[in-house]
Amino acid sequence: MTTKVITIVDQRAASRVPVVPAHTPALGGTLTDTRGRLLRDLRISVTDRCNFRCTYCMPKSVFDKDYRFLPKSDLLSFEEITRMTHLFVAHGVEKIRLTGGEPLLRKNLEVLIDMLAALKTHDGKPLDMALTTNASLLSKKAQALKAAGLQRVTVSLDSLDEAIFRAMNDVDFPVADVLNGIDAAHDAGFAPIKINMVVKKGVNDQDIVAMARHFKGSGHIVRFIEFMDVGSSNGWRMNHVVPSAEIVRMINAEMPIIEAESNYTGEVAERWAYADGSGEIGVISSVTQAFCSTCTRARLSTDGKLYTCLFAQSGHDLRALMRSGKSDKQIAGAIGLIWNKRVDNYSEIRTEETARRKKVEMSYIGG
Ligand code: SAM
Repeated sequence: MTTKVITIVDQRAASRVPVVPAHTPALGGTLTDTRGRLLRDLRISVTDRCNFRCTYCMPKSVFDKDYRFLPKSDLLSFEEITRMTHLFVAHGVEKIRLTGGEPLLRKNLEVLIDMLAALKTHDGKPLDMALTTNASLLSKKAQALKAAGLQRVTVSLDSLDEAIFRAMNDVDFPVADVLNGIDAAHDAGFAPIKINMVVKKGVNDQDIVAMARHFKGSGHIVRFIEFMDVGSSNGWRMNHVVPSAEIVRMINAEMPIIEAESNYTGEVAERWAYADGSGEIGVISSVTQAFCSTCTRARLSTDGKLYTCLFAQSGHDLRALMRSGKSDKQIAGAIGLIWNKRVDNYSEIRTEETARRKKVEMSYIGG
């Protein structure tokens, strides 16, 4: 086994079994952390595997044939994911996002969606349920996902340039197949579809305007994401980041845009509307304009660990509580203690030096 593999396996293993409080309150009620941030969103990684090897996320040099993905027995079952989600919803979660890895690789995902669609927020509303996907299997799956109760789809697409996209996904996957997946999702009734483009300087920044132009007027919303130092394997450097302000400037120079109101407090993307009324784009500036102060997101890893920050170095092993027979009230009490103590603010303190910390991989905790 090589050193690089040991490093990543160690990071996944760096988790604690949470403390269960002696007095467990009745289920329900919202949670706040040390900065008064509510728990509102849960990202669920349903698989740590992906059929792409995006160079900025799961580089082949690390995620190769020797990489030890989680064995099946480590994965939360659909029943376990639903039970956990129910507890998070009891604590005020209203939005969930299924992600990974590539979530559509998880067999029968629509069965899980159907189970999750039955959960209700405290005021009796259905959960807002979304999926992030590379769209490689979306043409086949879109109708079934919609029928099962999925409400929203986000598709990742980093370039419309064939050579650049194939080099970035590093498995020679064609642009046309992603576009077909987007069309299939649209035909199945998903709207608006969000399209995520991670921008890396010198790799795909020349495609920003072309991407905006292609989807302008389509009803889909392209979101340009600053390249982040997630995990420990993507070789991030500050000078690889194209600041969102620069992205906005480039698009505005060709197709005038005007800043738009957020849809809700804590929205990750800053919205910009085309001045001619033909739609909008978003920019996600995790690096240049940290949004930790309004971050209400928790992440549940493929093997049932709770992470309270995308840039976390360790997690809280909720699966251990579940599989050792703890009750819903006990597990909910443990989640409450963890959230109440949450201090995370990684993006506010990021430097080239913090970027070298050993953090858990995004494919494992969910993008
Ligand atoms: N496989 C799915 C997909 O491709 O959308 C879901 C998982 S992927 C980890 C979720 C999102 O994270 C994608 O939009 C991806 O581009 C983004 N992402 C991954 N690594 C990133 C990084 N270093 N910086 C910014 N975004 C990143």
